[in-house]
Amino acid sequence: MSPDVVIVGAGITGCVTAYELSKSGLRVQVIEKYYPASMGSGWTLAGVRQSGRHPAELPLAQYSVEKWLNLDEALDADTGYVQAGNLRLARSEEEVKKVKSLVNAQQQENLNIILLSNNEQVRDVAPCVSKKIRAASFCPTDGHADPQSTVDAFKRAAERQGVTFHIGESAQKLLIRNNQVIGLKTSKRRINTSKCLLACGVSINELIEPIGIKIPLSISIATVIQTTRQEPLLTPVLGVVDGAVTLRQQRNGRFRLSSGVEAWSGKITEINGQPYAFPAISKVQSTLEAGLDIFPALEHFQMRSFWGGIIDLTPDALPVLGEAPNAKGLFLASGFSGHGFGIAPASGHILSKLILEQTPDLPIKSFAFNRFDQRSTPQSQATLHG
Ligand SMILES: Cc1cc2nc3c(=O)[nH]c(=O)nc-3n(C[C@H](O)[C@H](O)[C@H](O)COP(=O)(O)OP(=O)(O)OC[C@H]3O[C@@H](n4cnc5c(N)ncnc54)[C@H](O)[C@@H]3O)c2cc1C
Repeated sequence: MSPDVVIVGAGITGCVTAYELSKSGLRVQVIEKYYPASMGSGWTLAGVRQSGRHPAELPLAQYSVEKWLNLDEALDADTGYVQAGNLRLARSEEEVKKVKSLVNAQQQENLNIILLSNNEQVRDVAPCVSKKIRAASFCPTDGHADPQSTVDAFKRAAERQGVTFHIGESAQKLLIRNNQVIGLKTSKRRINTSKCLLACGVSINELIEPIGIKIPLSISIATVIQTTRQEPLLTPVLGVVDGAVTLRQQRNGRFRLSSGVEAWSGKITEINGQPYAFPAISKVQSTLEAGLDIFPALEHFQMRSFWGGIIDLTPDALPVLGEAPNAKGLFLASGFSGHGFGIAPASGHILSKLILEQTPDLPIKSFAFNRFDQRSTPQSQATLHG
């Protein structure tokens, strides 16, 4: 029997949306080229952050944190979520000014964020932070999670409610007739459906350019480094004002550091059916240096692995969430610009409501596809802060 909805991509966005849709009783199929969380949702630092969000995204981040608090129970799984806060560290007087202004602005948006105005206050929250740090913002309701466990948890919960996942199957062509989705051609078959969600991250334009639309994505890369297991030393996520490094300690004890973002013109390399984006050695070095500068204990750890993570960056660093302008039944979710993990519960809510032709409980105007036609937005500089 034909599915009511096909979702392309089993990253966190596709899996959350599949889970949300599964509650409605619709027949949902998820098509995944590699395996769940094989791209952005596995490469990620996996911070769950409200602090430093664009005002348009803050309601999504706050909605999501409410969901994250009860996700393990709702999904009957362990996502590794901890609400341990996010510190944005200031290393110079200029950065102190920026942190103060961030705190003022976000307090006015009713976010629970405070200024830690000296090194002692910062080290009360995170004792191993460098003595050089001058101040920090601290949002205690931010946190982090385990990315693979989270995606698997949503997938399994969706499967229990009837969603089927088709792993190792690639969507190749959208089938549109009279401006309405009628199906999808994949590497294995033709699927008839009147609703299709493209949650395929950096690859979205490969599927929509043939139907005459394109999201203005610039593809960037961040370098991620993981250490071996260490004793518990750090609970919040640490970032710095210019985004040169973000780091956290995973619950298995490994530290995960991610670099700043830079333009990428490479190609994804497939090895044994897995996608890779290789980072420059110089970026590994500069990320380690920036990490050591804020967290000197790293010096004694061993490096276990490193990888590159590709980012779907839009001109305003906000995602596109909604129906395509020229194809009824085609829904787009991409352009998360390096911060789509934490807000996935909100993205999944919005997308499932739109697919069900209902009104989402969250504001969505800023995420419309056609906003790029109406204003010429200068290219944003993405910064990762967990
Ligand atoms: C280094 C790094 C650090 C980050 N840090 C954070 C952070 O701290 N906090 C935060 O909130 N966000 C962070 N992000 C961003 C976040 O991880 C992503 O925005 C989010 O995971 C995107 O999820 P997604 O499901 O939309 O896309 P993806 O996870 O990229 O999933 C897309 C899926 O679609 C599949 N696919 C692609 N093409 C096809 C096709 N033709 N057919 C079938 N399947 C296809 C892919 O294989 C993939 O599994 C970070 C990202 C990176 C790279």
